[in-house]
Amino acid sequence: MQTIAGVDLGGTAINFTFLDEQEHFLLEGLCEHPARSVEGPKICLQQIEDGLQIAAAKAGISYTDIAVVGLDTPGPASAAGVLSSRGATNFVHAQWNGFDLRGGLEAALGKPVTYLNDGNAAALWGHSTIFGLNNRFTSVSAIIGTGLGGGVIAEGNVLKGRAGFGGELGHVLVPWQTIPGLEGLNPQCNCWRVGDLESLCSLTAIEKNLLPFFLAKHPEHELNQVGDIHQAALQVRGRAERGDALCREIFRVQARALGLFFDEMVNVFDPDALIVGGGALETGKEFQRWFLDEIRAGMPIQREEQMDIPIHVMPNGDTAGARGAAIEALKAWRAGNFGRATASPVAATSVR
Ligand SMILES: [Zn+2]
Repeated sequence: MQTIAGVDLGGTAINFTFLDEQEHFLLEGLCEHPARSVEGPKICLQQIEDGLQIAAAKAGISYTDIAVVGLDTPGPASAAGVLSSRGATNFVHAQWNGFDLRGGLEAALGKPVTYLNDGNAAALWGHSTIFGLNNRFTSVSAIIGTGLGGGVIAEGNVLKGRAGFGGELGHVLVPWQTIPGLEGLNPQCNCWRVGDLESLCSLTAIEKNLLPFFLAKHPEHELNQVGDIHQAALQVRGRAERGDALCREIFRVQARALGLFFDEMVNVFDPDALIVGGGALETGKEFQRWFLDEIRAGMPIQREEQMDIPIHVMPNGDTAGARGAAIEALKAWRAGNFGRATASPVAATSVR
């Protein structure tokens, strides 16, 4: 029986999964192995190979049955899986700069490898939980974590873009000044844009922008006593869920910003579904429903044909990267085009 492996490589850990030809995942939950990425590519690729052997044994399959491997990692990397020559936060050893992750793993394992960045892999997983693996549907996924990740699945396929930055949703500017109560806020992102989605809707947005802004208006609030703004930011979700007014307001702002962003996406893609996930929504169902209602309330009025666009909560995200990577590999395998690096398309002729 031939199987497809999904390999989610992060800075510290590798997560594995397997997908059979009947589209069943063979491992529940996380199957982790240390990444040792700080020791450079050679050791890290060996860790992947060792971990894959262990995971295969755990899933009850033979290593030789693995037909193709889907890899996903944090970026920045090209659509073909070459890390940026300027370095990447999660891959700090000098030999990683400009390293061909996809080609390197393919050579190490002797098996064809496909590549996605982690946001796009998670988006493909979220999309597949709604529409299955074979479909021509379009969705936009926003994943609210430390930053704002996600991706666009356009008519069934991941939109990777020319340089691998397709679906970098966090750095899309939103008209945040239309959200009431934010007069005087300066929502700066790590990318230096002011007022992009990540600067208003992420754990970093809470810590750097929203929590300091609202705490300054409410000196009596308990979170002013915490001292460490990072620790205080980590408490916001729990407090919001328990009904703390200031923390609810922070989540309302995040939802409204997401609503403005989704409105932009509705007009660009006319998608079949909008999907939201990540740590911000690892809460009870009631809070999730409130958050989705606030997203919808933040969206300008839609055309009648688009008013009923569904907004879904993505299932628990721990295995999303590995599963999305495996799905991408299965799709490429079925199409008979795995193993070939994705060539950059010729740049479109500019219209003057
Ligand atoms: Zn940004």
